Amino acid sequence: MIPVNKPRLDGNERKYLMECMDSGWISSEGPFVKRFEQGYGARLGRRHAITVNSGTAALEAAVLALDLKAGDEVIVPAFTIICCASAITRAGATPVLVDCDPLTWNMDVEQVRARITPRTRAIMAVHVYGLPVDMDPLFELARQHGLRVVEDAAEAIGLKYKDRECGSMGDVSCFSFYANKHITTGEGGMILTSDDKIAERCARYRNLCFVPPRRFVHEELGWNYRMCNIQAALGLAQLEKLDQTIAIKRRMGELYQELLRGVAGLHLPLDRTPWANNGYWVFGVVLSDDVPFDAAQAADRLAAKGVQTRPFFWPLHEQPVLRKMGLFKGEHYPVSERLARRGFYLPCGLGLSEHELRFSAAALKEILV
Ligand SMILES: *Cc1c(COP(=O)(O)O)cnc(C)c1O
Repeated sequence: MIPVNKPRLDGNERKYLMECMDSGWISSEGPFVKRFEQGYGARLGRRHAITVNSGTAALEAAVLALDLKAGDEVIVPAFTIICCASAITRAGATPVLVDCDPLTWNMDVEQVRARITPRTRAIMAVHVYGLPVDMDPLFELARQHGLRVVEDAAEAIGLKYKDRECGSMGDVSCFSFYANKHITTGEGGMILTSDDKIAERCARYRNLCFVPPRRFVHEELGWNYRMCNIQAALGLAQLEKLDQTIAIKRRMGELYQELLRGVAGLHLPLDRTPWANNGYWVFGVVLSDDVPFDAAQAADRLAAKGVQTRPFFWPLHEQPVLRKMGLFKGEHYPVSERLARRGFYLPCGLGLSEHELRFSAAALKEILV
């Protein structure tokens, strides 16, 4: 079976891990944590870089740091991962959804404007599947209405929006270093901000809200969201080769485009928009309506041919857990609903060989004839 993801650990990962072993520094107090934070913050030009132990933790701390009140609203795309919504609800605020654009699969900026109310406090922009969101119109809305922008750049590490780095633009920006991301620490995450207050809060929440003067006396409850030195060692090694990683992903995406262009029944991702190139974090495809089976059946057919795939996101307004909380009653986001049922992505890990990629593309063509 060709796996949907296989990481590539061919840089200084082994060397840095051995340094952890030899020095005995394995906890979050070890030196790689600071080095990874400093290198990451410097690359993206942000004053504060705060490692955490997942992208979910990054979003939770970042949204909590905005100090929202019950009833405050955060606008978020319907087509994203659940932790975008849970970061908002756990901070006591209300997620308000917008549908995505049928071509970019990113949040529809025009709909954002329509959903702003006097309770809106923030917009959460999520760069979906490696194609950056058109951020400038969002920032213009945010400026007009005094809103914060939370940027989820988990799927756009190292990518650019115009001449700016994804993850350098939000009031607070979040990253995941899960095994399929452009930088992976196995599990891990990062928060970037140039806002001193947000940074101080995130750092505090990450570490059980330990505060001076007396350690073990707490004014607030936090979490243990700390990244350990072993994870940071992997992260630093991968940060060093991020440009190569981006180039590999881009080439893989271009090759898939070349192999699948014009295949009946398939919609391919946009290769570029006026504001960004697709970084192809994953290579998603969407079945057209005349294909007599859906994404789940396509996944079974591809698995039978030895090709593993992953389904697209399931939209937030159709999440049973959120509906049970009374959210999104009677709401519909048809583009997200359709993508969830017709879309899936192909093997695209950094460890994928060209042969495996060509085999995967050929298998997809076979199931469509
Ligand atoms: C991966 C991902 C996350 C979650 O990160 P974890 O490290 O798995 O918690 C959040 N948002 C997006 C867009 C992601 O792709």
